[in-house]
Amino acid sequence: MSDKLIVVAGAGGFIGGNMVAWLRQQGHGNIRAVDIKPLEHWYQKFDGVENLTLDLNDKDNCEIAAKGAWKIYNLAANMGGMGFIEKNKALCMLSVLINTHMLMAARKFSVEHFFYSSSACVYNGDLQHTSDDGDRFVPPALKEADAYPALAEDGYGWEKLFSERMCRHFREDFGLRTRVARFHNVYGPWGTWFGGREKAPAAICRKVIEAKLKGKHEIEIWGNGHQTRSFMYIDDCIKGINLILDSDIIDPLNLGSSEAVSINQLVDIVEDIAGIKLKRNYDLSAPKGVNGRNSDNTLIQQLLGWEPSITLRAGLEKTYAWIYDQYQLRESGGEGVVRELDEVS
Ligand code: NAD
Repeated sequence: MSDKLIVVAGAGGFIGGNMVAWLRQQGHGNIRAVDIKPLEHWYQKFDGVENLTLDLNDKDNCEIAAKGAWKIYNLAANMGGMGFIEKNKALCMLSVLINTHMLMAARKFSVEHFFYSSSACVYNGDLQHTSDDGDRFVPPALKEADAYPALAEDGYGWEKLFSERMCRHFREDFGLRTRVARFHNVYGPWGTWFGGREKAPAAICRKVIEAKLKGKHEIEIWGNGHQTRSFMYIDDCIKGINLILDSDIIDPLNLGSSEAVSINQLVDIVEDIAGIKLKRNYDLSAPKGVNGRNSDNTLIQQLLGWEPSITLRAGLEKTYAWIYDQYQLRESGGEGVVRELDEVS
């Protein structure tokens, strides 16, 4: 395995932490992991990795992070689920500083490979109003070309679209090898599951676990539960990122599952895993995002032969089990969210 330096920005977070774990499993011995959070709040941190706490909004810090790197995965962003991005548009847009300064630093140090994590939130909102068939909003499958004409998710989505574009121009004008994926909801263990930034799968697992353990068999659902999304398990995401990064595909590619489910269906699955049925209380005033969306995977299948391999049920079982343990650890007074040292599973 090559001993060239690989930098993971956002390594204290969900996808970044899982990327560092995967790189170690692949035998990479020269990894620099960077995040703004103090080390004790990283979901995963590992021995033999250079772990740095740096604010990557800052240009000088990006140079410290990028110096000597062969490959950079930029997975750092100030983000969260709908509850966060609808109420923090300016903060979301400020993540443009992270990608701008990381790109500039990558250029300065002649980094050979640069990955940027974009989002399905770049897609034109007008395509995602869709009709309600009584059970769920019909989920439009969004293909890559549907990002233009642009009408991205306000705040977060515009930042992603702009940063995608900047990756393209650093490639065209400065010869930096950039690759971009548009993630559709990613879920799995070692990510945010409480506190306001969590996304639907983690939030639903937590609420179901809480109902089960506290014996109060009710659940609050944001919106009427008919909103549709697709959900990709973290292991499929990590594989997809690396396929895209190693490929010749220069334009942003969808990376997501093409199996859309409604929020009510997601709750059905988690209830089934937990072995309970809950009374559903719908909060129609809560943030709920666009009505429906799905990933059109035609292009990535054609170009890279990539398909998610883990079913929603199997992925949710693992996520539920992890959050269940974390929940109990937290209830018993422990922080319980950090995986340390040499554990790799
Ligand atoms: P996450 O919040 O778990 O991880 C992001 C990490 O970036 C956090 O640990 C955070 O502390 C760090 N960060 C924020 N500001 C920073 C700064 N100024 N300097 C250094 N680090 C900073 O989120 P994630 O789910 O792992 O997402 C990773 C990337 O994928 C992000 O760019 C996100 O926008 C994108 N994405 C994620 C999803 C998803 O479903 N998880 C979907 C679409 C796009």
